Amino acid sequence: MTPSFDVLIIGGGVHGVHLFHLIKKRTENKLTIGIADPNPAPLHNWKHCTSNSGMEFLRSPSVHHVDIDPFALQKFSDHHSIQPKPFVAPRNRPSLNLFNAHVRDVLSAYKQEDYWIQTQITDIELHSMGARIFSEDGEIHARHIILAIGNGGQLNMPEWANSLASKAFPVHHIYSPDFSVKAYKEGFHTVVVGSGMGAVQTFIKLAESYSGKITLLTPGKINVSQYDIDPGWMGPKYLHRFYSEQRTFKRRAMISSARKRGTITPDINWKLNQVLKMEHAHHVIGKIKSGELFGSDNAFLNLEGEGHLFCDQILVGTGFSPTINSTLIQNLKNNSHLKCAECGYPIIDPFLRWHEHLSVSGELAELEIGPGAKNIIGARHAGERIQRLF
Ligand SMILES: Cc1cc2nc3c(=O)[nH]c(=O)nc-3n(C[C@H](O)[C@H](O)[C@H](O)COP(=O)(O)OP(=O)(O)OC[C@H]3O[C@@H](n4cnc5c(N)ncnc54)[C@H](O)[C@@H]3O)c2cc1C
Repeated sequence: MTPSFDVLIIGGGVHGVHLFHLIKKRTENKLTIGIADPNPAPLHNWKHCTSNSGMEFLRSPSVHHVDIDPFALQKFSDHHSIQPKPFVAPRNRPSLNLFNAHVRDVLSAYKQEDYWIQTQITDIELHSMGARIFSEDGEIHARHIILAIGNGGQLNMPEWANSLASKAFPVHHIYSPDFSVKAYKEGFHTVVVGSGMGAVQTFIKLAESYSGKITLLTPGKINVSQYDIDPGWMGPKYLHRFYSEQRTFKRRAMISSARKRGTITPDINWKLNQVLKMEHAHHVIGKIKSGELFGSDNAFLNLEGEGHLFCDQILVGTGFSPTINSTLIQNLKNNSHLKCAECGYPIIDPFLRWHEHLSVSGELAELEIGPGAKNIIGARHAGERIQRLF
C-alpha cells in the first residue's frame, strides 16, 4: 500500500526535526507526520559536517536548538553531565556533544520506525487535495509537504578542483558524504582551501593531529566575526525593517549584505594563531587560477600573480552552492510552475507556503524569514509560521 501522511517533511536535519517535533506537540499527536531522508537516521548530514570540521562548540547561542521551549537546552544541561564543558561565552554557545545529546533526548519521545522513511525524494506532483511524492523506492502521498532539505546536497566545488578530481587527484570537499576526516592520510603536503569556519577548523584539527606539512590557503585575509549574521537579524531589531520591505529584490540585497560568509569566530582565530606557530603549519593568501597535475601523484595550484603551491592532497572547504539548484527543486519549479523571485527563490506566503499544500524551510524560505533562514534560528522562525497551518 502507498504510504500516506497528513504531513510529510522532506529532510531530516535540524530543520526537519524541529518542525516534526513542534507540529507533533502543537497538534497533540493527532496528525500522522513522516520524515523522508536518504540517510539512516536524523541529523546525519549535520553530524557528518560538524565531525569533519572538528567543531566543538556551536556558533549560535543556547536558545537555538530543536526543542520548543527556548530554555530547553539549558534545562537539559542542568540535568545531564556532558563533557567537555557544556557552554562557552559569549551568549552560552552549546558544545556539539550537548546539542546532539539534546536532539537525541527530544527524539526519544518518538519511535523512529513510525516516522522515518529512508529514501531520496526525486519529484513532487502537487494537486488540489495534497501531493504525490516520488522517491527512489516508490510513491508516498501526503496532504501537506514541508521542504526542509538544507543545502539539498549542493556542495560548492570550484572548477579547478573538479578538473583535478576528474584526473583522479585526491581533492575532497570537506562536507562530501564520501569524505571522512577520520580516513585522512597525511602525505608530504596537504592544502586546505577556504577561509570560513569549516576550512579553518579542519586545518586546525589536522595540524594538531598530524606532523606532515599542511597549508591553509585563503583567498584574502581571514575575517573574524562572532556570528555569521549580526544578532540583530535574529529578532525584531532588523527583521522589522526586512518585513516592511515588500520588494523581493530589495529583500535579497538585505540578505546578501547581512550574511558574513567566510568568517571565523574569535576563539577559532586564537586557536589558528597558536597552530600557525607550529613548524609544519602554514597560511598562504592567494586566489587559485588553476590546478595542474604533476606526475601521477602531485599537483601544482597556480595562484593569481606569480605564486604556486605544490601538494599531494587538497581539501576544499568552500561551503555549499545555492539550494535552489538542487534537482528536486528544479523539477518542482519546472513541473508545478511555482512563483519565484528574480533571484530564483520561492515567493511564499506568511505561512511559508509555496503552494496550498507545500511549505518551505531553510534557505528556500529566505525571502520571508530573512538572512537567518538557514541557521537553527531559521528553523524556529519557520516553525512559528508553519505551525499555524495545522
Ligand atoms: C559545519 C557546520 C556548522 C554549523 N554550525 C551552525 C551553528 O552553530 N549554528 C547555526 O545556527 N547554524 C549552523 N550551521 C548552519 C546549519 O547548516 C544549519 O543550522 C542546520 O544544520 C541546517 O539544517 P537543515 O535541516 O536545514 O539542513 P541539513 O542538516 O543539511 O538537513 C537537510 C536534510 O535534507 C535531506 N535531503 C536533501 N535533499 C533531499 C531529498 N531530495 N530527499 C530527501 N531528503 C533530502 C538531506 O539528506 C539532509 O539530511 C552550520 C553548518 C555547518 C555545515
